[in-house]
Amino acid sequence: MGVVHIVGGGMAGLSAAVELAGTASVVVYEAGIACGGRARSYFDRKLGCRIDNGNHLLLSANEGVFRYLGLIGAEKTLTGPGSPIFPYFDLEADLAWTLRLSRGRVPFWALPGGARVPGMRLSELGALFALLQAGDDAVVADCLRPGQLARRLLEPFAVSVLNTTCAEGSARLLGNVVRRSLMQGGMACRPWFPAIGLSESLVDPALAHLSLMRADVRTRTRVSGLEVEHGSVQALLLGDERVAIGPEDRVILAVPPGVAESLLASHWADFTVPDAFESILNVHYRLPAPVDVRGVLAQTRLVGLVGGIAEWVFVKGDVLSVTVSAANRYLDRDMDTLGHSIWGEVRRAVGPTVAGGLPETAPAMRVVVEKRATFAATPAQERRRPALRTPFGNLVLAGDWTATGLPATLEGAIGSGVEAARAIL
Ligand SMILES: Cc1cc2nc3c(=O)[nH]c(=O)nc-3n(C[C@H](O)[C@H](O)[C@H](O)COP(=O)(O)OP(=O)(O)OC[C@H]3O[C@@H](n4cnc5c(N)ncnc54)[C@H](O)[C@@H]3O)c2cc1C
Repeated sequence: MGVVHIVGGGMAGLSAAVELAGTASVVVYEAGIACGGRARSYFDRKLGCRIDNGNHLLLSANEGVFRYLGLIGAEKTLTGPGSPIFPYFDLEADLAWTLRLSRGRVPFWALPGGARVPGMRLSELGALFALLQAGDDAVVADCLRPGQLARRLLEPFAVSVLNTTCAEGSARLLGNVVRRSLMQGGMACRPWFPAIGLSESLVDPALAHLSLMRADVRTRTRVSGLEVEHGSVQALLLGDERVAIGPEDRVILAVPPGVAESLLASHWADFTVPDAFESILNVHYRLPAPVDVRGVLAQTRLVGLVGGIAEWVFVKGDVLSVTVSAANRYLDRDMDTLGHSIWGEVRRAVGPTVAGGLPETAPAMRVVVEKRATFAATPAQERRRPALRTPFGNLVLAGDWTATGLPATLEGAIGSGVEAARAIL
């Protein structure tokens, strides 16, 4: 095989590169100043520390991510309680509880007397089977049954996983995640997140591995066009530079959907990509000293919130980071005011477990709005996702927006990179 040209150094592109390096000559072209795409860390001047563009939560069920971490030698860079434990706080009811899933497949946790969702009824579990059998057009709300299991667990889970509201989110896509996680038992649902940062876990070790394998990773290198003739890509255009694609070479296009469309639309009339997006909002609060949390939070460093704006609070040393998914609904708000309101929620949920409590007014904060965080995981958008194979003999697609069967997640992105590499090999 000749050279494999990978356009895009996000998780899909890096995963394809890791898969191929050692077997083929690999060149990665990344438009940005650094690799990582939507999963990256950077130094924030206002807070005076490194932060992630967005908190990323993984489950043990994300086998593709763990395999990737194994290949780049970064399995130990994640942190988590090692058990399927999730502390929650209901802001409307002023109620804290801890969900402890049974380790095996039988959901003993859901029985009365188990560490279950307060107020839930066993019959509400039927929603999971409805999700598993959902048709293409069903939305999550069609499958849920009214009750506390839905309000306190399944709705927040759906919004986090799909980054789309339950009224619009695809039940089929959520069912695919439920099949791989909850239905496999608690051990598949152990939560993980990067101990230091996204780049330290997912990007820097991959770049070190690629350098060892003599792959060429070119940042600040935007592919501005493709020359396509006789059913295959003949050249990549990098502004004034033209990179010829030889007969043995291959191209993996691992860019966001809008970029893929602009590069391919004139060559491929039937090409469709997702064209509706949802935002994710993160607020990072920097405290004067590391937060000394007690109780179960000391174990999980993560708490789920119900009945407010925030969904997850991550405890990362002296930074408390909050995630708000499906955040298009908040985009017309003043972000500073929103950040202060969310601090009120954090204080109520986390404050009682912190030695010395949390300050009444919000500390230094950074609100990060990723407007196109993911495609909107609706049934209509699902139909627009293309397969990785294209009509062009030497070109395959990768990215969380291709038809992976999963929502836009690290697992989908990394899996798509692996599939693209395998298609080439
Ligand atoms: C705030 C936020 C929170 C999230 N939380 C989670 C979570 O908790 N769990 C989870 O699993 N997933 C989460 N995700 C989703 C996850 O980050 C994405 O699914 C994944 O990073 C997508 O990777 P990708 O490679 O498909 O796309 P991208 O990351 O978009 O990568 C595409 C790359 O292509 C580059 N590029 C673009 N145009 C060109 C060009 N013309 N030439 C060369 N390069 C180009 C871009 O700069 C980028 O680096 C979250 C995403 C966000 C934004």
